[in-house]
Order: sequence, then structure tokens, then C-alpha cells
Amino acid sequence: MSSPAAELVPPAVISKYEPVIGLEVHVQLATASKIFCGCPTSFGAPPNTNVCPVCLGLPGALPVLSREAVEMAMRAGMALNCTIGPVSRFARKNYFYPDLPKGYQISQYDEPLAEHGRVDISIDGAPRRIGITRVHMEDDAGKSIHEGFSDSDRYTYVDLNRCGTPLIEIVTEPDMRSSDEAYTFLTELKQVMQFVQVSACDMEKGQLRCDANVSVRLKGAEKFGTKAEVKNLNSFRFLKMALDYEIARQVSVLEAGGRVEQETRLYNVATGETVGMRSKEHAHDYRYFPEPDLVPLHVSEAWRERVRAAMPELPAKKRERFIVDYKLSEYDANWLTADRAVSEYFEGTATAAGDPKAAANWIMGDLAAALKAADKQISESPVTERHLGELIQLKAKGDITGKQAKEVFAKMIATGDAPSAIVEREGLKQVSDSGALEKIVDDVISANPKQVEQYRAGKATVLGFFVGQVMKASRGQANPAAVNELLRKKLE
Ligand code: ADP
Ligand code: ZN
Ligand code: MG
Repeated sequence: MSSPAAELVPPAVISKYEPVIGLEVHVQLATASKIFCGCPTSFGAPPNTNVCPVCLGLPGALPVLSREAVEMAMRAGMALNCTIGPVSRFARKNYFYPDLPKGYQISQYDEPLAEHGRVDISIDGAPRRIGITRVHMEDDAGKSIHEGFSDSDRYTYVDLNRCGTPLIEIVTEPDMRSSDEAYTFLTELKQVMQFVQVSACDMEKGQLRCDANVSVRLKGAEKFGTKAEVKNLNSFRFLKMALDYEIARQVSVLEAGGRVEQETRLYNVATGETVGMRSKEHAHDYRYFPEPDLVPLHVSEAWRERVRAAMPELPAKKRERFIVDYKLSEYDANWLTADRAVSEYFEGTATAAGDPKAAANWIMGDLAAALKAADKQISESPVTERHLGELIQLKAKGDITGKQAKEVFAKMIATGDAPSAIVEREGLKQVSDSGALEKIVDDVISANPKQVEQYRAGKATVLGFFVGQVMKASRGQANPAAVNELLRKKLE
């Protein structure tokens, strides 16, 4: 299948060029209330119910900055290795939009909260460092909801519930060189934001929004090309597809002897193409000026260090610790730290089980499959960390076989009961006490004289046959190690 990008120019031509990409990412902060008023930020409330004179922008209403929002933004900045400035300032960014009742957004302009950060990612095993230009705070606008299909029957509704929801905008340096790098960076960014509990980053709820700036230049060229900004990228997959298309489009323009226009383009999900929307707006179009209703934001060293001290462990650090402390493979460590809740579940289970590798295997295998089948998050797991740990121990002690452990696990998923209770109830205790086992082994040996002869004649593989017979006779409850040992002894 050929993609819209491949139809524009052959890959061989594209590979003469190097893409340059910088992202502008908006992240909604997970505060309970809005940034400049006490209205709730809850998602899905009836339209225009979470509003007050401040977030409606009524004349005379005054904004009061939320401490919680500032601390979350500081956490985000620190997690991205930025410097948190001692003084930052809010600024008015003026523009008209039907869902922006104030007629301006309160943002930060030349004095943002955080600057000069970086995020380290790995592309095919090779390290790449992506610079973070800045992280600034701002308030969100409302939402326009379009309805209707024909010109005579078309409506737009305005819902102002989202007005005043706190956002941070994260601007990267033009440091990415492929759509894969942009994809990987955004994945890491999302993970970091989740780990420091700044945002759940649910793209479907608009908690993470990404605009991509992209240009191309001939490989080896020093100067950057003219960039286009691509908007409307509401999934990771669309980001990658839109970039691939836009890179190919710019290459085809240049190859035809044309010039790339500096403009804002929209990604069209239906066609897989980017479409010119408007010529790029410039900072001066917004008539930025210092917000007169807010004093400059002072962050004392004491406050900053208090926030820093309370920072949760970041994913990269946790991955490293899992490899060193728990002796996990890089693959397992990556898997188990992709989600903060999963990483915490793993640590709880590993402690309860006393066996990190077994805990990792159960979580990545049976548990992940069961949760996926039930469409559940790990936080909704019917099997607790303590219970899974207990199950691992039951098997390690030889109380139950591996096969039985799987059966018990399935019942744990279904009932949420403790494994010990299930083993008790189902009479699943493994037969490893030698008296009972010896009887079974003796019976099996005397019932199969031909195989005994074969074994004694040197056909060692017949042992497997005997083990199978004993397991069957014990209805799977015999301890395989004990069975093996006993059989060998008796047959020799
Ligand atoms: P503008 O003044 O047009 O807003 P900025 O310099 O502020 O541009 O950069 C905005 C975003 O565009 C940043 O993420 C930056 O990394 C990226 N960017 C800047 N120049 C280029 C370029 N030539 N190609 C690709 N991305 C770029
Ligand atoms: Zn309000
Ligand atoms: Mg700019």
C-alpha cells in the first residue's frame, strides 16, 4: 500500500534531505480547580456549568493565581531538566475567538517559568538529546462544538467549561531529525508528565496536544530550511504520519525548484495530507503586554527546593534502578516502567514474592493478558500485589505445580480471592510428601513392565513416559521434581 507521502516523491529523493523538527506541546495540568479561579476542572460536566465571572472574563473580575498550578508547572519544568526562574511574568496574548470570552489568553512571553531543559531519548539504541527551550504557563480557552451538515442547517455551540483550565506549553529546540524521533520524544514526554503526576496526558480528552514545526534541508547543509507548522495532531500516529507527509511535500516543492512557504498547516486525517490553513502569525500580531492584573511570579529558593524534594522518581531513573536492583533485562525494565502504576504494582509484587523475575514474568504475561481481555487498567486488577506475591511463593515452595499456579491465577482473576484460599478450597495441594507419591510411582511401574524393560536396556527417554503417567495418576498434583527423583531411584 502506498502512503500519500510516498506518492509525492520517491524515498530515494527524500533521503537526500534531512528533516528538522521542533515541537510545541500543550499539557493540561491535573489540578482540581482552574488556574485563576476556584471553578472545577472536571471533564464532561454539562456545558457552561463550571464557570464564574473570572473565567468568563466578565469586566472587573480579577484573576488569582493557583499555587497548585504553579507547583505542577514547576514539577514539569524540573522533570524536563529546566532551570526554574526566580521571577516570571504573565502576559496577555490578544486574539479573538468565540470560545475566548476575555479576548486574550493569559500566557507567559519573554519571562517564562522554566527554560533551558533537555530530554534524553534513545533511537535504535543510540542516545539523542532533545533541548527544551521553555515551559510556560497559560490558561485554556473554551470549546466550540460544530453541528449540522448543510449550509442552511449548521450550528456552532460554545462551551466555556474549559476556559481557565491550567496549561503548560513545552517548546522544544529544533533538535529532532525524523518523524520517529518526534514520536519517541513525545512518548517519553508523556511518560515523564505522567510519572511526576502533572497530567494523565489523555489525548482523547485534549490533555496532551501537539503542534509540529518542520523544515527540510539538503543533507550536509548548515542552514535550516523554512519551516511549516502542522496543527491538529491528536494522536501519536497522526503526528508521525503528518510529519512524513509534510517532509515529502516540502522535498517535492524544493525538488520542483519552488520555495517552502512559512505557514500554518492542518493535518487532514481523512486524506493523510497537510493542508495550508493560514500564513504564520507572528508574536507581534498578538500585541503581547505584561498582564496588569497579576503581579510577577516570584519563586523563592526555599519553595523551589521544597517542590524538588517532593519530586517522584522519573522513568529513566526507575528503569535503571530496576535493571540494577532487580536484575531485570532492559526489555523487562522498559516494559514495567512504561506506566507508573504498573511500575508500582511490580515493586509491590516483587517484594511480596521475594522473586523479582517471577513477579515480572507474571505481570508481563498472565496478568497483562487477563487485564487486556477484561479491558482493565492495572489499578482495577482483581489480583492484588500481595496475592500475586503469595502465589509466586506457593509455587516456589513446591506447594503447587506450575500448571496449578496458572489455574489458581485464573481463579484469582475471576474471584479476587487469595491464592491460599483457592488452593485450600479446591484441594489443590501438590502431592510431594513421599508416602503418597511413592505409592503412585510403584503402581505406575508395576503397570508398565514393558517400558521398565526398555528403560533398563538404556532407553532413557522412557522416563518422560513414566513422569507423565505419575502426573496423570496424581491428577496433576504431584511435584514434578520429586516424581523425577523417585522414578529414577526406583527404576535403577
Ligand atoms: P516562531 O518565531 O515562528 O514561533 P520559534 O523560533 O519560536 O519560531 O520556534 C517555534 C518552534 O519551531 C520551536 O519548537 C522550534 O524548535 C521550531 N523551529 C524553529 N525553527 C525551525 C526550523 N527551521 N525547522 C523546524 N523547526 C523549527
Ligand atoms: Zn471560574
Ligand atoms: Mg515563537
